[in-house]
Amino acid sequence: MLLRSIRFRLTCLYALTLAVILTASGYGLNAYLSRNQLGHVDERLLLIAADVSTFSSILHENLTASTPCERLEAYLRQRNWGEYVQILNERGSIACSSSNLLDFSLPLSKTALQHAERGIPHFETLEKLDHHPIRLLTYPIEPGNRNSTMVQIGYSLASIDHEIADLRLTFFLLGPAVLLITSLGAWLLAGKALKPVARVTRAVRRINAENLSERLPVANNQDEISELTATFNQMLDDLENAFRRIKQFSGDASHELRTPLTILRGETEVALRWAKEPEEFRKALASNMEEISRMGRIIEDLLTLAKSESGDLPLIPTEFSFSDLIQELYLQGRALAEPKQIGVNLQLQVAEEIMLRGDELRLRQMFLNLLGNAIKYTPSGGRIDIAVTMDRGFAILSITDTGVGIPAEHLPHIFDRFYRIDEARNREDGGTGLGLSIVKWIVDVHHGRIEVRSTPGKGSTFTVILPLAGPEAVKK
Ligand code: ADP
Repeated sequence: MLLRSIRFRLTCLYALTLAVILTASGYGLNAYLSRNQLGHVDERLLLIAADVSTFSSILHENLTASTPCERLEAYLRQRNWGEYVQILNERGSIACSSSNLLDFSLPLSKTALQHAERGIPHFETLEKLDHHPIRLLTYPIEPGNRNSTMVQIGYSLASIDHEIADLRLTFFLLGPAVLLITSLGAWLLAGKALKPVARVTRAVRRINAENLSERLPVANNQDEISELTATFNQMLDDLENAFRRIKQFSGDASHELRTPLTILRGETEVALRWAKEPEEFRKALASNMEEISRMGRIIEDLLTLAKSESGDLPLIPTEFSFSDLIQELYLQGRALAEPKQIGVNLQLQVAEEIMLRGDELRLRQMFLNLLGNAIKYTPSGGRIDIAVTMDRGFAILSITDTGVGIPAEHLPHIFDRFYRIDEARNREDGGTGLGLSIVKWIVDVHHGRIEVRSTPGKGSTFTVILPLAGPEAVKK
């Protein structure tokens, strides 16, 4: 658990990065200091070599004699130079050397000799000549003369070696300590930064289906955590709404189904107890049949809406003639309106054929629901006008009736599920209160719009505006 925690991983990442930086800078510093120190040493060696070579008495007098060597010694002491100095004659044999070169002599390498013959000073580092590396300069006294005498100056790198060893030790000791302390700091900081996450987790644990109304406290500092909690709260809002809708829907649905069931039971009981003549039984059965078909309609509508919400009712968009569909449904509407002596008229206000992309079966259902309502809520002898036009890529269908109309305060709710203006009247008419919800869903999935205008006592107009292009994709 601990190993997988963000806090632990953050700390490890931090420690690893710091370790890499420390190691790299240690190596870098080491290389830089070594090169820098060596540069200073070389400069000094050149200086001494140049100075010694101008020590004219050595040049002009017999180099094998002891006197000049003593003079060299005095010369070096006077200048306070502690370097190893060796003077070689033109054959490369030692002519004279400083007194500190008692136990060993400075070697003359092949390359150094070759360089000297060409008049080039040559630097080299000799490992372990005097327990420590020695930086050695072989310097031709007369550049350009192949048989020149040479000066060799050697400098023990012991002090530089010590300095660098000290530095390394400091790094080795301090590095892990720094790493440990900063990792501890990183651990504490990560813990502090992640504290709000733990708080959110605890708060989220408290929330379940029973107390969806709880919200997480959102800090006002607009950081990532408060953004997360705000998003979570938004999600809870949506969930709560969805839950409430589902609850209301199932409550409404059971209520709607209970009413016809109660009637069914009541009438059956009455018939069983009191009816004697076959005619009485027939009447009771006919009434039962009505309730049964009503329940069937409710269940059918509920199923359609439930499936539309869960996306199990996919659209099958095809290109079809909307004009043909309207004409066909107009004839159907006329037949339906006939028993109530309601006149149905169609005005196709476009010369050309209207082609529409959409789910023909669903659009037919939508149209029939609107037409059915118009017939249902228009008294006998009334009139229904169906008008179809086209405008800038949209088909516009309106159905106007001379019916009872809808009071303004009900208009915003008529598309809600189970919403009915007059319960008693609607029950008689066999309405389920779901028809317009289905209409709205069909219009929505076709990216269309539906509008209602109504004057109570005079009539209503339902207008559906559908894009000719239809839905681009199946909308769930
Ligand atoms: P119902 O199955 O009860 O007709 P709807 O969802 O189709 O349910 O309609 C909701 C309510 O809107 C109806 O109860 C009715 O009161 C009102 N309504 C719908 N269409 C009309 C209309 N053309 N004229 C008057 N009222 C209407």
